Amino acid sequence: MIALPRGESRLRAACQVSVSGLVQGVGFRPFVYRLAVRHRLGGWVRNASGNVQIVVEGNALELDAFVQELRTEAPPLARVDAIALARNPVTGLAEFSILPSALEPGGRQPVAPDAALCGECEAELFDPSTRRHRYPFVTCTNCGPRFTVIEAMPYDRARTSMAAFQQCPACLAEYEDPANRRYHSETNSCPVCGPRLWFEPVQEAGSVVGESALRLAAALLLRGGILALRGLGGFHLAVDALRERAVWRLRARKHREAKPFAVMVRTLEDARAIGDIGSAEADLLASPARPIVLVRQHARSPLALSVAPGLEQVGLMLAYTPVHHLLLDLLRRPLVMTSGNRSEEPIAIGNPEARERLGGIADGFLLHDREIVARYDDSVVRVAGQAPVMLRRARGYAPMPLTLPVPAAQPLIAAGAHLKNTFTLAQGRSAYVSQHIGDLESLETLTHFRAALKAARTLFRIEPEVAVRDKHPGYLSTEIAEELGVARTITVQHHHAHIAAVLAEHGHTGPAIGVAFDGTGYGDDGTVWGSEFLIADLSTYRRAGHLLPAPLPGGDLAARTPWRSALGYLSLERARAATFAHAFAEVDAKAVEIADAQVRRGINAPLASSMGRLFDAAAAIIGVRRTASYEGQAAMELEAFAGSRPGTAYPCRFREADGRILLDPLPLLSVLGARRRRGVDPADLAADFHASIAFATAKIIRQLAEQTGIELVALGGGVFQNARLLASLLRYLEAARLTVLVPRRLPPNDGAVSFGQAAVAATLLAAEKET
Ligand SMILES: [Zn+2]
Ligand SMILES: [Zn+2]
Repeated sequence: MIALPRGESRLRAACQVSVSGLVQGVGFRPFVYRLAVRHRLGGWVRNASGNVQIVVEGNALELDAFVQELRTEAPPLARVDAIALARNPVTGLAEFSILPSALEPGGRQPVAPDAALCGECEAELFDPSTRRHRYPFVTCTNCGPRFTVIEAMPYDRARTSMAAFQQCPACLAEYEDPANRRYHSETNSCPVCGPRLWFEPVQEAGSVVGESALRLAAALLLRGGILALRGLGGFHLAVDALRERAVWRLRARKHREAKPFAVMVRTLEDARAIGDIGSAEADLLASPARPIVLVRQHARSPLALSVAPGLEQVGLMLAYTPVHHLLLDLLRRPLVMTSGNRSEEPIAIGNPEARERLGGIADGFLLHDREIVARYDDSVVRVAGQAPVMLRRARGYAPMPLTLPVPAAQPLIAAGAHLKNTFTLAQGRSAYVSQHIGDLESLETLTHFRAALKAARTLFRIEPEVAVRDKHPGYLSTEIAEELGVARTITVQHHHAHIAAVLAEHGHTGPAIGVAFDGTGYGDDGTVWGSEFLIADLSTYRRAGHLLPAPLPGGDLAARTPWRSALGYLSLERARAATFAHAFAEVDAKAVEIADAQVRRGINAPLASSMGRLFDAAAAIIGVRRTASYEGQAAMELEAFAGSRPGTAYPCRFREADGRILLDPLPLLSVLGARRRRGVDPADLAADFHASIAFATAKIIRQLAEQTGIELVALGGGVFQNARLLASLLRYLEAARLTVLVPRRLPPNDGAVSFGQAAVAATLLAAEKET
């Protein structure tokens, strides 16, 4: 604040203000303009590449209030991180204006995520007296596409895909009117000058535009057809969520057997008709990010069973574009909305690409001609306790930067993990974690990675000098890191990256007791890790405990065949064969024989200490699931199965080896198997399994805390998406008065690995600089 001597309130003052944070693409300049006019200040505001710059002059008290209100009255989508002030000489500036943007090489700042249609625009959309009545691309400075249309910063229409549409005189008048909500709204358009919407049937040639397009699309959906619609960050495939046959058709055509589909409804009230919406869920559903929120479906839910087979949770989201609102208003029923791709491929974004890739799936296309600059999936969130846990971070959240506790001395790129990949570009304290990219298993996803990285380098003006990669020699992300041709590569162990991500997200550098539970990650000893207790800080770690390793017959194949995980544990103590019998019921005997031979001969049966696979083994032994159609399905169903039963903790055995604590789950698995054979309800056994793992994990953590005196715990890894496990573990650890960090802004799963890699690399670079 500028200190003023008493009695000098009529004095004129001038100053220069620089505001950093999320201040472009969120209506910040118009807001500054209105604020300056209100306080009768002269001067100007402009976007620069690294911040928003303001010069103001006027009454000193008014000026003081202006600076204060820059923070307190900022527009809803803005995030003010810092305000820097410098005194200027008084020169008699009287008028206030918005100046053209200043391009500064090296300037860097956040890019706004896309935001859902705001309330005011929604009201206009359905108001026959406005010129944007039923206009499918209505936006203002408070809502609409941002990241998906921005090609470069600073944010001006000329550097967006809206540059293709020239504003008509009526739109331009709004754009230039400081009192208007669309003052300097770079996405401003109307039915006269803006993008077009049209419908193309797949079977016939030709197309229909405007309102008729919407009606044909709605009619198609009501007939049970599959609609491909172009949205903000790519295509969705939609079907009527109440019609079993329609949902099955979509599953068959998309080659997606069982993985749950998300459902879109128009209002919170519509959402309440389907599932239990607590206040935390309601806040998330209605937030400008409008993520998919996992909620418990209630018994009277009208959704087709095939939407989320075998799960009590269903992913719901509210309409977030004008097209969604118009369509759902016509239909008055929930829609399955799944990403427009064939199974596991990236989402389609261009019209020709969609016609080619989705032509065999969809019955009709609802298209528009506003080009999509960035692929941008829907984000997925669930609530554990009262706090949100991110499961997939993309639309509405990415690419907002996170802050590194140790600044990166050199610009770096962290290539992330193999599955659920994201990458991170970092320089200084800013870490730009990309939107969800996907599983790097197909050429298409790899192409998506390269394109997204190229775009991010332009947007954030970061030219990496250091590449960070996983230790796994065969990962495609590793290959990409190598091919970047930078002078220096740093490798980071997968689970260390998980723990570092959680520490860094919370501004900690450690040391902490890190617990990373996931599917698989490449260990230092060449075996598969995945249940790691690490004494870790941001630069180093010591492996202090893990599950007893068991062979994993079939290697990666085991992720989709839980019975193989059970077989691996059985091989450790063959005497227990009878108690494991349920794991192999309904499984092809020949396949079991082959896998058994693999284990005995040690061929294609790597040793693994994976918590994800232990959940699989338990699911198989209890008889919940023996074969799966996607990784993690068995564990998700095991959690669903347990319902709200409290569960009893059964004992695990603990061993010591090389100074590490080994958790031996065999006694637990045997108890579960034996009780299942005695006819105990599998739901009770599922609850008992969760309780037992939470208890054993807490026990190891407490022991490590006593040994090391460390009272900070960091939990990471995809297994902690399990709300039940997380909640009961937290209860134990809070009772032990330990401080526990859990992932909040990034997912517990591999989506956070690139950020963790960046945090470790930045810390290592800083240590080198010191020595
Ligand atoms: Zn709006
Ligand atoms: Zn217009």
